[in-house]
Amino acid sequence: MIHVAIIEKIHQDGLNLLKENQNFKFEIIEDSSEENLIKVLPKFDACTLRVSKLNEKILLNCKKLKVISRHGVGYDNVDLNYIKKNNITLLITATANAVAVAEHVIYMMLSISKSINQYDHEVRIGNFKKNASSIKTLELFNKEILIVGFGRIGQTLIKRCKGFDMKVKVYDPYVKKEIIEKFGGEKIENLDKGLNICDYLSLHVPLNDKTKNLIDYSKLKNMKKESIVINTARGGVINEEDLNKALNENIIFGAGLDVFEKEPVDKNNPLLTNKKVLLSPHSATFTNECKSRMSLETTKNIIDFFENNIDKSMIVKL
Ligand code: NAD
Repeated sequence: MIHVAIIEKIHQDGLNLLKENQNFKFEIIEDSSEENLIKVLPKFDACTLRVSKLNEKILLNCKKLKVISRHGVGYDNVDLNYIKKNNITLLITATANAVAVAEHVIYMMLSISKSINQYDHEVRIGNFKKNASSIKTLELFNKEILIVGFGRIGQTLIKRCKGFDMKVKVYDPYVKKEIIEKFGGEKIENLDKGLNICDYLSLHVPLNDKTKNLIDYSKLKNMKKESIVINTARGGVINEEDLNKALNENIIFGAGLDVFEKEPVDKNNPLLTNKKVLLSPHSATFTNECKSRMSLETTKNIIDFFENNIDKSMIVKL
């Protein structure tokens, strides 16, 4: 019997899949603190993982652990050096969440462009006519968007941008020009050039040494005054302090953030009181549909792994 730890609860659909298979049993671990995981994780053969951290201290005694199945596609919360050295396989839900994230980007772009929060507020306080025409709003039509990172989410987003008649530039040094052109985008070789001409910037790169602080004050200063920056990738790809400064100095029009350098966000993070930024709590994938898909793919990956049937695109190459 293969023993699976479900670290932090996932949608019931994925749990049902495990229940239906007689070779697997599972336990849900709600307390994902380092202290508790050190204690309880060693008896398991496999685990699912949401946002909790799996560091060396926790993994050190997990001698039976063969596979970690991420509920998502980012894996900056796992000690990659340790699992590589110890032959632990890392799986991701590669096909489950791109649509939900791409829709979240579109929602943020529209919401900020239409100043919808402010309109809503004015109507509620009785300013139906007074302020409406003085509030600045923008259209997506004919605007330039720069997509940074053209993997699963970037490629899903471009189709939606095309639906709004946007012009799409792509910065991703690892993706060929021909592939980007097939999607109707134009490859940009130089990030600064792209930032200089775009009206919207959407980030879809993993967080690593190369992408940390990819967008800082010097980059933001290069952008148009009416531009809007959206980050649904990982906190840290944009330097938060620099973003807040750029918004306060009217260097850019607005920003939408689903992800933060520190999650949950610190109460005294100045972005929380900045009206030019639209925030969501790392929730781009929290649609009903996506929660079900991710949960199913997370546990299916574990079953497929042990049945030697795993789709290679789900395996993280370490
Ligand atoms: P992916 O691996 O399919 O694509 C990432 C792309 O980034 C690749 O094409 C790669 O070539 C490119 N890239 C890497 N380094 C780059 C660099 N320095 N400059 C430009 N491009 C670079 O990943 P994905 O599924 O599209 O997801 C992208 C990121 O979104 C994930 O790494 C994850 O951190 C984040 N994400 C967030 C949520 C959320 O809930 N907000 C959900 C899913 C994914």
